[in-house]
Amino acid sequence: MDFEELYREVILEHARRPRNFGDMPEATCHIHGDNPTCGDEVTLHVKFGDHNDIEDAKFTGSGCSICMASASLMTQKIKKKPKAEAADLWKRFYALLTSDQETTELDDTLGDLQALQGVRKFPMRVKCATLPWHALEQALRENSAV
Ligand code: ZN
Repeated sequence: MDFEELYREVILEHARRPRNFGDMPEATCHIHGDNPTCGDEVTLHVKFGDHNDIEDAKFTGSGCSICMASASLMTQKIKKKPKAEAADLWKRFYALLTSDQETTELDDTLGDLQALQGVRKFPMRVKCATLPWHALEQALRENSAV
């Protein structure tokens, strides 16, 4: 199985059975984001812990498989992680999606998120993949310790 096929499988699997999908009434914040060009709509529910960490993360909404898979993979990755680590993950994931050079160097810390790197060839799809992450960025910004 080549990488592209493997990546497609990961995306479809997460789109079909999104992890951490559902409402979270006890969340610290609910951030809504949409991507009108594709019709993606996602609300991210984040519960922050007492130690600058993300205690829980879930999402609701609907969208294309790229968007759903990205939200599913993201919530999996950021749960129980320090806020700083989640912010750093977003930075590196964004770099992966927007880098114009074909990189074969794998960033192990991104794990299955690497499955989404194929979208870098399609700027419209980059927006689908980054939608849940922009919501995360906003959640982190609004809840940063001052
Ligand atoms: Zn989309």
